[in-house]
Formats: sequence, structure tokens, C-alpha cells
Amino acid sequence: MDKPMDNLSEQQRRRCMKRVKNKNTKPEIVLRKALWQKGFRYRLKVKLIGRPDLVFVGRRIVVFVDGCFWHGCPRCKNIPKTNREFWQAKIDKNMVRDVEVTETPRADNWRVLRFWEHEIKRDFERVIAEITAQLKV
Ligand SMILES: [Zn+2]
Repeated sequence: MDKPMDNLSEQQRRRCMKRVKNKNTKPEIVLRKALWQKGFRYRLKVKLIGRPDLVFVGRRIVVFVDGCFWHGCPRCKNIPKTNREFWQAKIDKNMVRDVEVTETPRADNWRVLRFWEHEIKRDFERVIAEITAQLKV
């Protein structure tokens, strides 16, 4: 994992802080903000398998935003050439887990919506429309 902050040079620290700040523009945050602005109220920390990015408790809807790399997006496949097997094994494991994370709440009458990171970045309006439509059902 990351080294403790004390070991960082001034420049490294600045870069590190910048990365922390950039977390705020992660795709799931962008999605949350847009839905919140539309008046939809969700919860974030609900004890459900897979820790969904958004939970609409009353509607029994959970939303996941899957990072394209870690969840094995077929469209954005970009596995590093070095240690390919290592990464592939990790991603495969995540994908098996994703099936479980989708099926478990479904079996308990939750609707599970999953979106790829690239959909949030490139097709945002459609994502919002899909979620909005589900929330109105
Ligand atoms: Zn993708």
C-alpha cells in the first residue's frame, strides 16, 4: 500500500494531495451530485453486499458504478502488458464477485443498476435518464 506521508518529499506530497482532491470528481460522485440536484435522495452507507455507490432505500434500488479497469469492462480492456496474468487474475476475481454482488440483492427484491465508469464519462445523460426512469416506476 501507500507509504506513510512522512516519507514523501514536498513535491510528492503535493502530488498526493492533488490526487486526494481529484477523488471528488470520481464518476460515482458526479452521478450522486446530478441525482441530488434533480431532487432524488439516496443513502450512501447502507450495509449491503458490495457497498453500492447509491442506495434508494424506499425504492429498493441500488446503483453501482464500476471502474472499467478493475471490473473488466469489455469496451475499455486495457490490461498492462507487464504482469498481465496477475492483473487478469485480479480482474477475473472482481468479475466473479460482481455477479454475486448483483445477484444477492436481486434475490431479496432489490433492483440493481450497474454502470461502467466510461458510461458516466461519455454517456452521462443516458445514465441519468435510466436511473430516473427506474426511480419513477
Ligand atoms: Zn469501460
